[in-house]
Amino acid sequence: MRAATSTRPADAAVGADGTAVDTHCPYCALQCGMTLSPAGRASVRVRPRDPSAGGLCQKGWTAAALLGSPARLTTPLVRDGGTLRPASWDEALGLVARRIKEIAAERGPDAVAVFGGGGLTNEKAYLLGKFARVALGTSQVDYNGRFCMSSAAAAAHRAFGLDRGLPFPLADLEGADAVLLAGANPAETMPPFLSHLRRAMDAGGLIVVDPRRTPTAERAALHLAPAPGTDLALALGILHAAVADGRLDQAYVAGRTTGFEEAWRVAAAWWPERVERVTGVAAADQRRAAAILAEAASAYVLTARGAEQHATGVDTVGAWINLALALGLPGRLGSGWGCLTGQGNGQGGREHGQKADQLPGYRRIDDPAARAHVARVWGVEPSALPGPGRSAFELLDALGTPDGPSALLVFGSNPVVSAPHSARVADRLAALDLLVVADIVLSETARAADVVLPITQWAEEDGTLTNLEGRVLLRRRALAPPPGVRTDLEVLHDLAVRLGQPPERFPTDPETVLTELRAASEGGPADYSGVTWDRLRAGERLHWPVPRTPGHQGTPRLFLDRFAHPDGRARFAAVDHKGPAEPPDEEFPLYAITGRVLQHYQSGAQTRRVEELRAAVPEAYVEVHPDTAHRAGLRDGAAAAVVGRRGRVLATVRCVPSMRPDVVFLPFHFPGAQRANLVTNPALDPVSRMPEFKVCAVRLSPAGEREAQ
Ligand code: SF4
Repeated sequence: MRAATSTRPADAAVGADGTAVDTHCPYCALQCGMTLSPAGRASVRVRPRDPSAGGLCQKGWTAAALLGSPARLTTPLVRDGGTLRPASWDEALGLVARRIKEIAAERGPDAVAVFGGGGLTNEKAYLLGKFARVALGTSQVDYNGRFCMSSAAAAAHRAFGLDRGLPFPLADLEGADAVLLAGANPAETMPPFLSHLRRAMDAGGLIVVDPRRTPTAERAALHLAPAPGTDLALALGILHAAVADGRLDQAYVAGRTTGFEEAWRVAAAWWPERVERVTGVAAADQRRAAAILAEAASAYVLTARGAEQHATGVDTVGAWINLALALGLPGRLGSGWGCLTGQGNGQGGREHGQKADQLPGYRRIDDPAARAHVARVWGVEPSALPGPGRSAFELLDALGTPDGPSALLVFGSNPVVSAPHSARVADRLAALDLLVVADIVLSETARAADVVLPITQWAEEDGTLTNLEGRVLLRRRALAPPPGVRTDLEVLHDLAVRLGQPPERFPTDPETVLTELRAASEGGPADYSGVTWDRLRAGERLHWPVPRTPGHQGTPRLFLDRFAHPDGRARFAAVDHKGPAEPPDEEFPLYAITGRVLQHYQSGAQTRRVEELRAAVPEAYVEVHPDTAHRAGLRDGAAAAVVGRRGRVLATVRCVPSMRPDVVFLPFHFPGAQRANLVTNPALDPVSRMPEFKVCAVRLSPAGEREAQ
């Protein structure tokens, strides 16, 4: 029943013991190049391919530890009498297919849902979306990237007509005299990235906007620390200062943009002193930020999760884009706006069809021409393709409800830890008739599953990913997977065939899938039709769009001549400050903000199982100002409960004098009672449907003895 995985003669050496293989890190969107030299599964040497570009961070150096980990799943598991027991692939897949058919027959195709991840390769993300729409016929497919980059993507679409995280090569940042980072902490999330900001740091041009004095903020010439949820107001204040001080690039605004007057009508009411009262950022610092950016010969505004993960995330990113447009930065060589994508394939993962409203090539699923094109490639009628489905949190929130799906297949995600209001999400998963999880380890979500499918890791498979600058990269197989595990592509193929699909419709060979993806994306906004395996293997640096046109070298820089809107102009957005959906009050007087630490990645399912990383940061902590801790009856090292409207998080107190007294910080990588997402607010942005991970109201108290256990 399984299609054979093709072997490519030129790759014959790849995967043999002792053979050095050039590939990329399995974690974040920087996708640092690394060379793997396997000498058996438990001994894989890791070296950075480009030490001059910052090398690797601690996560990258230790990534191979998970390849030989005893925590690795190597056999399918099936729930039996309340516990998970080993099963054969035939039994596990047969059970899944049978239950899917029964549930779909009883309640319709939308009763079966799919949840993907921003770490899946382009080929997996593509085939997963196709599997959902064609093999299952369901509209209910979305992915965890909705939690990461969707607000920046929507804001970029609105402003420029196209979303590519960095619309310029990463290396362009090396020429920058000034860089404003809004809600980004790359010193912890992607430390090698800082090597691209050396010039800006040396020139006193690094501005960091973050409520915390993070390791990135420590390196800044100017650290602006707004109250959580007020960064949109801060962006308006800096825009106001720029315009009032005569720094508006009038020729650029007149020649390359529309909508400035409407945007300015809002920003005119946000003079820096008023913004200071709302944000706590001194008016003089707002003016200084405007001056640093405007006076630099080369300047960039970069946003990340801190700007995005709000119920007003699209408008907040839009406010930072407005500032960049007013200064004439986007679409100009050596300047610009960009979004720092987080997950390993956060960029490619949002382009090829695992998102509820999209088809491959960054096409809209409600566009008749897009449906016709993709349906032709897939060999089905356009009318057979479902329409848009629920967004990630709405999908999780609907599971097991009368109108929601009663079966869920999860690939590359751990929503029990990573979704907001995670106790609610765990309850919804428990209400399902069928939960299937494909993973490399028994994650918290896998523990709740009815069927667990063990899959290959990054070093055991080929594929492509698209990094934060929109460059397509080749992931290379360095060693054979352990007996008993299959690739995600093989799992999708096996299930599709059991559901009655022709085997050739769901290939298992990544290069074959890429060939089909290229056709499906051809002519779309994210056109990969000219990206071939051979070109990537030859080391070509291909930034999308890469049309099939012979000799096309890709598009490292977008927007130099025109933006992607039909009139070629960028759009200002008339955005106003609203504040967080759940501001502090008497009962919950503190802001809780969430974020990342250097040693862990996302839900921690992988990094918590790497001994060196686990030993460095073994458990959740809460950063708090010493005075705030004292008022709550706590001291450094004490066990605290961070209590909010939706739950409580247990964490060890870290007194940090640089913290704002009204803010506590929780890293979100930890499971169980230490899940930061037990308190986070699932209020959604009305456009991107991204939850407000970054701000909720809490109080702090000593953890009761029972709670601390
Ligand atoms: S910065 Fe990101 S891609 Fe580079 S080694 Fe660290 S986790 Fe891996």
